[in-house]
Amino acid sequence: MITLDTLPQGPRATSSLSFRAVPLAHPGKQLRVLDAVDTSGGPTNSGQFELDLASCGWPRLKPDRLEIVQINLGKLCNMTCRHCHVDAGPDRVDENMDRTTVEACLRAIDSSGARVVDLTGGAPELNPNFEFLVEECVQRGLRVLDRCNLTILLTRPYSHLPEWFAERGVEVVCSLPHYRKIGTDAQRGDGTYHKSIQALKRLNQAGYGQGDPHRKLVLVANPVGAFLSGNQSSLEAEWKTALARNHNVRFDQLLTLNNLPMSRYLEWLMETNQVKLYLNRLLQAFNPSTIAGLMCRNTLSISWDGYLYDCDFNQQLEMTMDIPRPHVTDFDLGIWQDHAIRTARHCYGCTAGAGSSCGGAIA
Ligand code: SF4
Ligand code: SF4
Repeated sequence: MITLDTLPQGPRATSSLSFRAVPLAHPGKQLRVLDAVDTSGGPTNSGQFELDLASCGWPRLKPDRLEIVQINLGKLCNMTCRHCHVDAGPDRVDENMDRTTVEACLRAIDSSGARVVDLTGGAPELNPNFEFLVEECVQRGLRVLDRCNLTILLTRPYSHLPEWFAERGVEVVCSLPHYRKIGTDAQRGDGTYHKSIQALKRLNQAGYGQGDPHRKLVLVANPVGAFLSGNQSSLEAEWKTALARNHNVRFDQLLTLNNLPMSRYLEWLMETNQVKLYLNRLLQAFNPSTIAGLMCRNTLSISWDGYLYDCDFNQQLEMTMDIPRPHVTDFDLGIWQDHAIRTARHCYGCTAGAGSSCGGAIA
């Protein structure tokens, strides 16, 4: 059984909102904070995402084709990063997907036609059903992505995973805020950078990051501050050069994400009095050419307890899919195809600049 005591310890940037039982731990409070912001910088000056979409010819945001099933295995994590939109942490031991729900997810995947399974958390590897789920997906010939925080690969129960992943062709998508120590440790806790580099070396030794499509190593970077992501392709070149030169570490691809104003990142914006500044920055950078590629149009998001969402952000805000029975046991592809995607002000994070999704920049 997983307990707080058996988890790897280390310096942490913060603690979970849930652990501190602060009002912002409630999604409704987060949505109200955003709704209260005076916005005047957007395309329609409305501050209403739906109206801004409509003004660009999208009166309703509808799905395109279901390609990805993203499963959030739970909120349990060995870290407590400052920017975490899941409010994950070592204290979140109760929110972990059980075997029955995992099996329901597999049935939904089978009926969905999706060819990509994207595993996230928390630290998804901490779920006792993680390896079972990966094996099942690999046997089905699906492309499997593990969203990995890197440090988990250095802890004893999970240190076999680089080779285990390599044998199964699992794509490892690793979060690393910056290729420099200072930015990474500020957001994720002291010592995180050093551990992350060690984990990347372990993945390189297992064959990852060398251009082999069956051992693909992807890094994910998000801004350390209240600004938008930089240009993904130029940053990728910069990161590849810096990590090779400084640590002899290789990787295949860099994805850049915007921080969405919610959960612990929203708390940081509030503490630093930057909520209005950041939200208006997102509005001013609204880019209509990102809309067609929004990840909610090709992704089904499933929570640890089996509820269905349009994306992992809506999941954390408890905005279930707008259908009669939004649960994995009732998943129906036809209903998914016809439903309207739920949006709110946090969505401006996905349409700002080059756009942002779990697959990186959009436009
Ligand atoms: S950002 Fe990732 S690694 Fe950090 S606390 Fe959240 S889930 Fe864990
Ligand atoms: S937050 Fe989710 S629902 Fe909103 S635009 Fe982004 S992917 Fe779509």
